Amino acid sequence: MSGHSKEFPITWGMVIDIDKCTGCGACMASCQTENNIEPQPEASNKLRSTSWMLVYELTNDKAFPNHDIAFLPRPCQQCGNPPCVSVCPVIATDKNEDGGIVSQVYPRCIGCRYCVAACPYHVRYFGWYDPIWPEGMEKTLSPLTSVRPRGVVEKCSFCHHRWNLAKDAARAQGKNPDSLDDGAYVTACVQNCPSGALSFGDLKNPKHKVHELIKSPNAFRLLERLGTNTQVYYISRREWVRKLGDNYLKSE
Ligand code: SF4
Ligand code: SF4
Repeated sequence: MSGHSKEFPITWGMVIDIDKCTGCGACMASCQTENNIEPQPEASNKLRSTSWMLVYELTNDKAFPNHDIAFLPRPCQQCGNPPCVSVCPVIATDKNEDGGIVSQVYPRCIGCRYCVAACPYHVRYFGWYDPIWPEGMEKTLSPLTSVRPRGVVEKCSFCHHRWNLAKDAARAQGKNPDSLDDGAYVTACVQNCPSGALSFGDLKNPKHKVHELIKSPNAFRLLERLGTNTQVYYISRREWVRKLGDNYLKSE
């Protein structure tokens, strides 16, 4: 990757402690509900189903008793230098808003899927079907997130609507909406993780926990050598996990 990342005074980021993740999938379920992702007609078909947050199982490929596994939750990495943005012919996805969240403008998307091909993290999903909720399940629909039609691409937005709500709440309390307290804005997956594996906050704000977490010697980012400069960090004490995250060759 070439080019420099645009700097944002507020930089929302997620830190995922892989050693705490049990692979329960609560993050995936809460994301689907929060963001109006309809029940999938072909849920077992990974090429035609939608999971803005997806938990992968990793293995160190060793036989018992040295066998080890880990679980890796994977939202959009909110790249500082996003390959998906530069390929979009109609600016339906962009990295411009303060906070550094990569946007997705559904009415502008023409469904060409260049961004799907360009994203090295496989986090973008094309809508193959009309979104349909079985009778009764439509009651779970949230008024805070738009429903996407068939034929456009979607992805994790760091629950952007929650940021707007947090700013409104800060204004109502006479606080500065551009300097939210730690925890005032968190994504649905972070709120619902029962093992506390996920943290969220402003990476640049010393008062936010994530500011310290990313300084851990065990912190790493996925495919860091690509230069995507992501806003999602991972932590693991296990070296094989950290190496797998950057796709090290066996000889390295
Ligand atoms: S699928 Fe939509 S967002 Fe992706 S590159 Fe094409 S127009 Fe842009
Ligand atoms: S992870 Fe993929 S979709 Fe998200 S900003 Fe990076 S390239 Fe774009």
